Amino acid sequence: MKILVTLKRVVDYNVKVRVKSDGSGVDIANVKMSMNPFDEIAVEEAVRLREAGVATEVVAVSCGVTQCQETLRTAMAIGADRAILVESTEELQPLAVAKILKALVDKEQPQLVILGKQAIDDDSNQTGQMLAALAGLPQATFASKVVVADGKATVSREVDGGSETLSLKLPAVITTDLRLNEPRYVTLPNIMKAKKKPLETVKPADLGVDVTPRLKTLKVAEPPKRSAGVMVPDVKTLVEKLKNEAKVL
Ligand code: AMP
Repeated sequence: MKILVTLKRVVDYNVKVRVKSDGSGVDIANVKMSMNPFDEIAVEEAVRLREAGVATEVVAVSCGVTQCQETLRTAMAIGADRAILVESTEELQPLAVAKILKALVDKEQPQLVILGKQAIDDDSNQTGQMLAALAGLPQATFASKVVVADGKATVSREVDGGSETLSLKLPAVITTDLRLNEPRYVTLPNIMKAKKKPLETVKPADLGVDVTPRLKTLKVAEPPKRSAGVMVPDVKTLVEKLKNEAKVL
């Protein structure tokens, strides 16, 4: 069984992002970039399934600029067997990525596609769902547990007030939530081994996909600065302020 796992190169989650002065987006020049955290979880899950003998091959895919190769090497250091970079310098919106992934699903015929539930840069939370729709595959989003057996995936997912368990017939699309697993640290020997694993580069046009953006960003702005807090001398004053100033009581 082959698993396709997707990863987006995003601004590292420890970086405090700065908005460009013209409000056209976020400044990513000279900023540390890393694998989207939910995608690390996706790669870890795929590799665990292969290590458990459920899957036979894990193929990592990233769409974006040449530097995504580094992110793909990290995925191969975690344990992915090979990688595909769909190279483009265009802004790739979720629909474009979903179309690219659909073309790769047709070509590679994986039994399972595992994506992150959302990319921490655009917070779209759309790509997995769009891929499932385009490919006509069953989907389970926000997975916190995945069991694959007998041509089926049993997926637990957190919902308001509890946990829901779904059974999906393979092939299927799954998106990962934080609780699914804790990704391993990549070791130096595995980083070295990953350098020798195959990495194929294709262009969206080779897959017959038009990646023209469908959405236009009008403006990006920083959140309003929070005003400083005040110390109150006692509970009585606090209650009074909550009643008369904040008017929340
Ligand atoms: P989003 O819908 O943008 O929040 O992204 C959800 C998930 O789709 C991510 O966690 C990735 O697994 C996948 N994804 C989004 N954009 C890309 C990309 N450019 N390359 C590879 N995977 C992506």
